[in-house]
Amino acid sequence: MIKVVFLGPPGAGKGTQALKIAEKFGVPHISTGDILRAAVKEGTELGKLAKSYMDKGELVPDEVIIGIIKERLSQPDVKERGFILDGFPRTLKQAEALDQMLKELSMPLDRVIYLNVDDEEIVKRLLARGRADDTEEIIRNRLKVYRDQTAPLINYYREKGLLVEIYGVGEIEEITKKIEQALGLL
Ligand code: AMP
Repeated sequence: MIKVVFLGPPGAGKGTQALKIAEKFGVPHISTGDILRAAVKEGTELGKLAKSYMDKGELVPDEVIIGIIKERLSQPDVKERGFILDGFPRTLKQAEALDQMLKELSMPLDRVIYLNVDDEEIVKRLLARGRADDTEEIIRNRLKVYRDQTAPLINYYREKGLLVEIYGVGEIEEITKKIEQALGLL
């Protein structure tokens, strides 16, 4: 059982690394971005709402995202194996809601892996990725939103003694190894 949050700017490689770690440890990989993109594709009410924010590089409202995570964390696979959260929490309010949920589930977080990548590298990577919300203007906004709303979580988790900072530039496999080492004692 491992219970881990991946934190970092857009383009830090959270999705790639979170998926690899989830597979290696055999735990559910929970990506709010993936959940929202699936809803957009299916054209559900959630998808329509989410799209209007995602298209601008804004965050989907906290209540909506917190509801999604609450539902997902209540599933039996999470109770059995734990979770890797990727892209959640992204605001202080989400982090506090997560604390509350995990308290109720008696499943405290083990670690927060903070993947740190330089700004120039982020822009380069996101432009190369070519996802629908990866145009230069939207990227710039997503970086601003990250700095204003998500970056404060670095200190939030550091103060709780949960943060492990890993430099996210280099060979993908090397970075995976560093993350595995950080999780090695779990
Ligand atoms: P990602 O795939 O994590 O980069 O997420 C893509 C987009 O989905 C973000 O730019 C947000 O619009 C939305 N999103 C994903 N996770 C969250 C979250 N935890 N809170 C608010 N919006 C989110």
